[in-house]
Amino acid sequence: MIIEIIKSSISILDALELYSSIDVGSINTRKKRFNICCPFHNDRNPSFTIYTDTNRFRCWSGCNEGKTGDVIDLVALSLNTSKSNAIKILRNKLSKKHLGDEFLTELKQKMKKNKLLADIHYNFEQEVKEAIDTLSRLDRLISKKLTQIKTIEHLNKFGDLYHLKPTINYWLDSLLENDVSIVFYTLKDAKTFLERLNYK
Ligand SMILES: [Zn+2]
Repeated sequence: MIIEIIKSSISILDALELYSSIDVGSINTRKKRFNICCPFHNDRNPSFTIYTDTNRFRCWSGCNEGKTGDVIDLVALSLNTSKSNAIKILRNKLSKKHLGDEFLTELKQKMKKNKLLADIHYNFEQEVKEAIDTLSRLDRLISKKLTQIKTIEHLNKFGDLYHLKPTINYWLDSLLENDVSIVFYTLKDAKTFLERLNYK
């Protein structure tokens, strides 16, 4: 728990200010992510990204294999000490407020909510994946059927498939869109259609 408290109550920027040679006051820190010169290697072009949304950092050059991590890793690297020592140092930095019951309850609720959101996101992704699989299979099946149309009787029987194919292809395209709302409504339409068709 102490690790979660540290990660959620001490910012990367505060740690940089306190434990590294970086002068945080001279940086525009309002953006979600921005680059500064890496404090861990001789960096001429700013290649050290600070992620204020996730409270993490990453060096994209110079530091072997790209050093990346959280506020604890940052302090361990800055002070050239172990992770457990960095945790001890940061623990001492925490105020009484951060170790109080009220803060802990709030933190636990926040973590629960984040877990819930991650679960919802995962389930949605799974549903999208399944829909893409099912529609792709259906698309292949329709293509096969269409090549088998040789007579007028066949055409009467399977002709409707000609109209279905573009719709399925449109859904397949839309399910791969970046826009979540497009994916969401496409999934809804596709699922309704597949349920009516009873095709799995
Ligand atoms: Zn570096």
